[in-house]
Amino acid sequence: MNDSKCVRKGFVADHIKSLPKSGIRRFFDLVNTMDDVISLGVGEPDFVTPWTIRETGIFSLEKGHTSYTSNLGTPALRREVCRYVRDNYHVSYRPEDECIITIGVSEALDIAMRALLDPGDEVLYTEPCFVSYPAEVRMAHGIPVPIETKVEDAFALDPAVLRRKITPRTKVLLLNFPCNPTGAVMPLESLKEVAAIAMEHDLVVITDEIYSELLYEGEHVSIASLPGMRDRTLFLHGFSKAFAMTGWRVGYACGPREIIDAMMKVHQYAIMCASTMAQEAALEALRNGEKEMLRMRESYCERRNLMVDGLNRIGLDCLLPKGAFYTFPSVKSTGLSSTEFAEQLLKAEKVAVVPGVAFGACGEGFVRCCYATSASDLIEAIDRMGRFVQSLKH
Ligand code: PMP
Repeated sequence: MNDSKCVRKGFVADHIKSLPKSGIRRFFDLVNTMDDVISLGVGEPDFVTPWTIRETGIFSLEKGHTSYTSNLGTPALRREVCRYVRDNYHVSYRPEDECIITIGVSEALDIAMRALLDPGDEVLYTEPCFVSYPAEVRMAHGIPVPIETKVEDAFALDPAVLRRKITPRTKVLLLNFPCNPTGAVMPLESLKEVAAIAMEHDLVVITDEIYSELLYEGEHVSIASLPGMRDRTLFLHGFSKAFAMTGWRVGYACGPREIIDAMMKVHQYAIMCASTMAQEAALEALRNGEKEMLRMRESYCERRNLMVDGLNRIGLDCLLPKGAFYTFPSVKSTGLSSTEFAEQLLKAEKVAVVPGVAFGACGEGFVRCCYATSASDLIEAIDRMGRFVQSLKH
C-alpha cells in the first residue's frame, strides 16, 4: 500500500471554497445582460479622471518611465502623500518608513490583514459594510466579527455596542466613515469614545478613509489624529473616489513603522510595486487636483439632495447621508425583502439598485443607490421607482 496517496476533496482550499462570491457582482452580471437599464449599482464616480492627471500618466509613458519603482512606492509620491495627510488629516508620518503605496485601498486592506492577523484573531467592523471586509479577514485566516449599526443611530457606531463585542481574541477594529454603503459619519464624541476603548483593549485600528474628501456637512476627523491613536492606527486611503481614478489602481497606507514594515514584506513578495505610470499620475492628483476634486464634490452634493428628496417623496424613507455617494433608503414599507425589491424593480422598471443584504445581514430592509450618475438619469430612476412602489400597492 502506498501511504503517500490521499483522497482529495478537490484542489481548492477549504477557506476559499466557503467564501461567498460578492452579492453585488452576481447581481450585476444579470444587469449586464439587459438593455436600457439605469444603474445606481456600481460604486464609482461617473467622472473621467481630471485631464491634468491623465496627461501626467501619458507623459510618464512618453518619457519612458516603464520600470519598477521602489517597493514602497516612489519617494516623491510618498513625500506628497505624507504632506497631504498631515495638511488635511493632522497626523504626521515619515515618508521613508511609515508610508507604502499600494494597488488601491483593496491591496492595502489585504496586506494589512495578512501582516496583522494570526489564525483565529478577531476583527471587528461595522455592518452594513464594504463587501470586501469580511472576505479580506477570512482570506488572512482571521475571524470577521460584524457590529451592527442602525438607522436610528444614522448608521454610526455605538461605542457601547462595540464594547460588548470585544473578546480576548479581538485584535483589530476596522472603521470606514464616511461609510459605504450608508454614507454615515461618526459624531466626534462617539469617535473619541471608540478611541478610548481601542486604547483600553490594546486594539489596532484600521481606518479606511477612501470617502473622507466626499463629506457634505461638517468637518472630517480621522481617528488617527486623536490623542494617543497614531501609534495604533493604520490610515488607508487612495485616489479612486475623490479623484475619479478607480481604474488606475493606486492607494496607500500610513502607520507605525512596525506595521508598515510587515505590510511591506507581503507587498514586496506578492506585488513588487504599484504601477509606475499610476504613481506619477497620483502625484499630480495630490499636487494639483484639489480644484477638480471640489468641483466633483459639489456636483455629488447636488445629486445627493435630489436623490434623497425624490426617494422620500415616493415613500422610501431615506436619511440624508453626510458623505460618500450612496443613499441607503428603507424598502420595508413595500413588504419586500431587499433582494426581492432589487430583482422586481430591475425586471419591472429596469433600474438597478443593490440589495442591502449584500453588505451584511443587518442591511436587510434597505437598498443601496449610488448617485454618481447623471442628474437626468437620477430623475428618471426616481420616477420609475415611484411607479414600481405604487404598483405594489394595487
Ligand atoms: N474601501 C471602501 C469602503 C470602498 O468602497 C472601496 C471601493 N468601492 C474600496 C475600499 C476599494 O477601493 P480601491 O479602488 O482604492 O481599491
